[in-house]
Amino acid sequence: MFFFGIFGVQNKSRVVKEFNNVICRCGRLSSMQLIEEYMYFHFFFIPIFRWGRKYFVQARCCGRLYEVPEDYKDELLTSDTIDLNRLREKESPYKICPSCGKYVDSNYKYCPYCGAEL
Ligand SMILES: [Zn+2]
Ligand SMILES: [Zn+2]
Repeated sequence: MFFFGIFGVQNKSRVVKEFNNVICRCGRLSSMQLIEEYMYFHFFFIPIFRWGRKYFVQARCCGRLYEVPEDYKDELLTSDTIDLNRLREKESPYKICPSCGKYVDSNYKYCPYCGAEL
């Protein structure tokens, strides 16, 4: 079809900013990335409109993902610090290996890097 691929819906995410020296719920001092995720409709690869914009904070230490509520996102975008009590913790797609410290998909039972049981 001629029109195939000319328009469509895409899901996109980007890192908006990074916070340093945040104490994560895992107890470690870490840096955290603020991630913006949204859907957009494009026509000839030009985005026409966006919707469903959401913000997440991802911890570098353990891969924990925190969801930013609507009423906190504007404040967080202009702030240098994060108040973790105002974020909701999401089910993380990652675990961290207790033996080698690498990020591992949470479906794995054994670490693919060092073979330790997770
Ligand atoms: Zn952590
Ligand atoms: Zn490992």
